[in-house]
Amino acid sequence: MSDMITFDKVDKRFGQTVVLDQFDFRVARGEKVAIIGPSGSGKSTLLRIIMALQDIDEGKVSLDGRPLWDAAGGKHRIKPTRKHLRDMRSLVGMVFQNFNLFPNLTALGNVAAAPRHVLGLSQVEAEARATALLAQVGLSDKLQNYPATLSGGQQQRVAIARAMALEPKIMLFDEATSALDPERVGEVLEVMRALAHERDLTIVVVTHQIGVARAIADRICFMEGGRILEDGTPQQILNEPRNERTRAFLRAVH
Ligand code: ADP
Ligand code: MG
Repeated sequence: MSDMITFDKVDKRFGQTVVLDQFDFRVARGEKVAIIGPSGSGKSTLLRIIMALQDIDEGKVSLDGRPLWDAAGGKHRIKPTRKHLRDMRSLVGMVFQNFNLFPNLTALGNVAAAPRHVLGLSQVEAEARATALLAQVGLSDKLQNYPATLSGGQQQRVAIARAMALEPKIMLFDEATSALDPERVGEVLEVMRALAHERDLTIVVVTHQIGVARAIADRICFMEGGRILEDGTPQQILNEPRNERTRAFLRAVH
């Protein structure tokens, strides 16, 4: 099966801090992967590199067989032009911990914005697409609500609909359920689970909520110190972790 995401010996540094260290990572088309690991281990940086929000210092990153980053000696061998980054970003939808909705737009406006302005659909077409996506996340009755009038779980479902609006091949979730009240986690997880059933959609979920990883992932990677220390099925990683660092992390989060 062809890879949807490929990291080849990637280094990423912030000043003296090494965030990714000769990082190798592959996600097959349609695979659902969860990344767990302690705070500061580079998980958000990894997602931000895939979303083309952050560059790399060394190595190569490809999405869907197309080169995104290629750097050597701190120099970019692929120019990160606005066009290149925009083209690559169109493959990816991302959902953040803190929803990041446009506060001055309704739920419908939030989801319709990219189809309208990036794809150039008419207002009517963009709103039709947004209405269908908001129905999929169970928010048909909230189309005209502004984010401030929605619960955290509802805002996050709008954010998921918005991330899906350009029909990405890859969906990234960075602690998407971590800021929610416990009783609101289920409604967002249910939407994520429905996406996980889409065979062709590739999903990478970063979470410290083990239940979320278990619900979504076919494979779990434990990351620490800029590397993946252990990689396996949810059953293997969560029930029979081999690496002492994985065991220590799981004890700490349980
Ligand atoms: P995680 O998501 O696993 O908690 P991050 O990827 O956010 O980890 O951060 C990894 C390391 O990189 C941390 O030490 C963090 O302080 C540092 N870092 C992240 N983003 C930046 C940035 N924009 N500038 C400087 N340091 C950063
Ligand atoms: Mg993070």
